[in-house]
Amino acid sequence: MARSKICAASGCDEIALPGLSHCERHEARRQDKLKARRAKAQTSEAAVLARVLYSDPRWKAARLAFLRQHPLCADCGELGAIEVATDVDHVTPHKGDGKLFWNRSNWQALCHRCHSRKTAREVFHGDRGVSGN
Ligand SMILES: [Zn+2]
Ligand SMILES: [Zn+2]
Repeated sequence: MARSKICAASGCDEIALPGLSHCERHEARRQDKLKARRAKAQTSEAAVLARVLYSDPRWKAARLAFLRQHPLCADCGELGAIEVATDVDHVTPHKGDGKLFWNRSNWQALCHRCHSRKTAREVFHGDRGVSGN
């Protein structure tokens, strides 16, 4: 039987998993950190892509035209309130995906308040899986 190695984490004297340098607990923690780092990289990549999409002059023209066709906030309208729409929201967050971004059936006109509320909710849910180790 091969001699077992001790976990490489400082202060840990658990046996390392076969073929790995860390014990089960520390290996899981290491994987979590890697996952979080990857998710973060993806998020910032999406943010860069989104910035490029939003800075497209075609978007500025398209969103103005959309707001002219949909002058009232969709969310407020559902509650029976009349609020002037100022923002075009993506129903399914595009996360920098050009296809979702330009898909007009994925657009809805919202007032600034509804849009901020929705964006805040998306950010909150998006971060939940990443935080904590
Ligand atoms: Zn360990
Ligand atoms: Zn609204």
